[in-house]
Amino acid sequence: MEVIPKEKMILAMSKSNNPVKKVDSGSTVVFDTFDCFSNQIRTENDPFSSVGWDKINPATGPLYVNNAEIGDVLKVEILDIKIASKGVMTTATKLGVLGDIVTGETTKIIEIIDNFAVFNERIKIPVNPMIGVIGTAPYGDSIPTGTPGSHGGNMDCKRIVKDSVLYLPVNTDGALLSMGDLHAVMADGEIVICGLEIPGEVTVKVTVLKNEIPHNLLPILVEGNHVMTIASAKTLDEAAKNATINMHSFLLDKLNLGIDETGMLLSLVGDLRICQIVDPLMTARMEFPLSILNQYESEISKK
Ligand code: CA
Ligand code: CA
Repeated sequence: MEVIPKEKMILAMSKSNNPVKKVDSGSTVVFDTFDCFSNQIRTENDPFSSVGWDKINPATGPLYVNNAEIGDVLKVEILDIKIASKGVMTTATKLGVLGDIVTGETTKIIEIIDNFAVFNERIKIPVNPMIGVIGTAPYGDSIPTGTPGSHGGNMDCKRIVKDSVLYLPVNTDGALLSMGDLHAVMADGEIVICGLEIPGEVTVKVTVLKNEIPHNLLPILVEGNHVMTIASAKTLDEAAKNATINMHSFLLDKLNLGIDETGMLLSLVGDLRICQIVDPLMTARMEFPLSILNQYESEISKK
């Protein structure tokens, strides 16, 4: 199996990045990843500001997938996420939702024991390992790995976990997939600008799809009982609206209901959620139950 070491990392997703490996569609690849601080914070005496901006949010890659051409879709199946035995969190004034309230740069090292993050003697939180940064090269200018967008990037979506499937646009030959910024656990919002940041190893299967999903609807994620559209924008309002419009368009094509009726269905069963509100752009997702999609499609196939 191909393994990309964490030292092969980028700080911006770009068409001009040199691929570190080339694989065929259908291949399985392991991405070894630093935490979002390039593993520079080792003790509770290391503050957030001790990590230079040239070390924040590295993404391992990029991977070139043979035969991926502009306009295609890259299907990324997350087969496994392994995390280290301890992670780190930081606060910093002026950053995050509580930037005006937190008292300064506090660093907390949190151990993972038996799949629980040990926050303190009383609070143990079940881990939910997820990928914060995952994306392909954007169509236009390069985009820092700390910023999300239609190419993926720093979406901080807590549902990008083991056994999920992410669909990303191919904007340049080879797609140039990269990822990093794993979290042992993170809640919707990512309030103090980090999750439980942790190094790890992600195993993915990459497959090139030809003309299956229009690029303007991506990224799309399938996890558990939901299909989700993910959108990022300057404001959370705009991100939420875009995620909703994308899901509406996706369903219009899949369900063959009218425009208004599709809207009604979304109003009944589509959950609009926040991924994060702390990055340079905000990210929201619209979750739609697969049970309804499958039910409806099976009805179509019976006719
Ligand atoms: Ca992140
Ligand atoms: Ca992070």
